[in-house]
Amino acid sequence: MRVTTIHAPGDIRLEERPAPTITAPTDAVVRVVAACVCGSDLWPYRDENEITPGNPIGHEVVGVVEEVGDDVRSFAPGDFVVVPFCHSDNTCAHCRAGMTSACTHLGITSGGQAEYALVTQAEGTLVKTDGMPDDALVPSLLALSDVMATGWHAAVASRVAPGSTVAVVGDGAVGLCGVLAAREMGAERIIALSRHEPRQALAREFGATDVVAVRGKEATEAVRELTDGIGADSVLECVGNGPAMRTAFAIARPGSTVGFVGVPHGIELPVARMFGLNVGLAGGMAPVRRYLPELLEKVLSGAIDPGRVFDLELPLDEVAEAYRAMDERRAIKVLLRP
Ligand SMILES: [Zn+2]
Repeated sequence: MRVTTIHAPGDIRLEERPAPTITAPTDAVVRVVAACVCGSDLWPYRDENEITPGNPIGHEVVGVVEEVGDDVRSFAPGDFVVVPFCHSDNTCAHCRAGMTSACTHLGITSGGQAEYALVTQAEGTLVKTDGMPDDALVPSLLALSDVMATGWHAAVASRVAPGSTVAVVGDGAVGLCGVLAAREMGAERIIALSRHEPRQALAREFGATDVVAVRGKEATEAVRELTDGIGADSVLECVGNGPAMRTAFAIARPGSTVGFVGVPHGIELPVARMFGLNVGLAGGMAPVRRYLPELLEKVLSGAIDPGRVFDLELPLDEVAEAYRAMDERRAIKVLLRP
C-alpha cells in the first residue's frame, strides 16, 4: 500500500509498504477514506521533534473496516468508522473515569496518511455511522478523529459555561474548533486571537464575537479592554508554545482555568501568577473517544460543521505538497484522499 513517511525535517515521502494486518484479537484494519495533516505533524517537519527516518506519519483517519480480530464483536467489514487518534479499550479504570487518552492499553494511530490503518483496541475505540455517510459529511467526520474533539476538550478543561466570556489562543484547526465548542457550550462572548484573515472569517462563522488581530502584550491589552479589565472566564490554549501560554495566562481572569491541548514545546508556567490569581491549568491529550458519541450526533444533525477547517483537498499522492501548504500557512488544514 501507499503510506506517508518522514525521513528528515521537510522530507515527506509516499512509499510502498506492506499493508497492516491483524496481529492481536483486539485489532482492526481500516481502509482509509480520508486522512489529513495535523498541526502536530508539523513539529517534526519543522525540526522541533526527533525523527526516526522512514517512520510512517499521520493519525487522523475515517474509513471502512476491512478486517477485524476475533475479540472485535461490534464492528464488521464494511462499517464506516471514525478512528480516534488515541486507541483505548474503553473498559479500564482510566477509561471509565473518562480519560481514554490515558488508557492502560493505549495505542495511537501511526501511519494514518495511507491507504490502510491499523487500529488497536478496535472494540473500545471505533465509532461507526449508520451506513455509509454522505460524502459531503466526510470532512466533518474526519475532524472528529482529532481536532474537533481536541478543541472540545480545551473548552471542557477550561470550564466554558453558558453566558461566559471565552478567549481562544491559536487559530489553527484546533483553535477554530475550540471556538465552535465554546459556542455549542453557550458562551456569550468568544474572543478569537488571530492575525490571519481567512482564519478570522472562519472563527466568526464558528461563533467568535470578537477578533484580536495582534499578539503578545498588545493582544493582552486588547483582551483586557474588551473585558473591562477583568479578563476571560475561560481561556483555550491551542498552540503549545511559550508565547501562546504566556498570553493565555495574561488574559485569564482571577479564579479561571486555562485549558491546554497543544502539544507543549518549551513552556514555562507562571506559577507565581497562577498562585496569586488562583488561575488553574487543565487539559492535555484529548480523550477523543469520550466525546465522540456526542460530537458525532452534532455532526449528523448539522449542529456543527467542523469540516469547514479543511480549506484544501489533495490526493494522497500529493501529500508532500499538503505539508508544504500547511507549513507555509497557505492552508489551514489539508484533507487527503487515498
Ligand atoms: Zn482503557
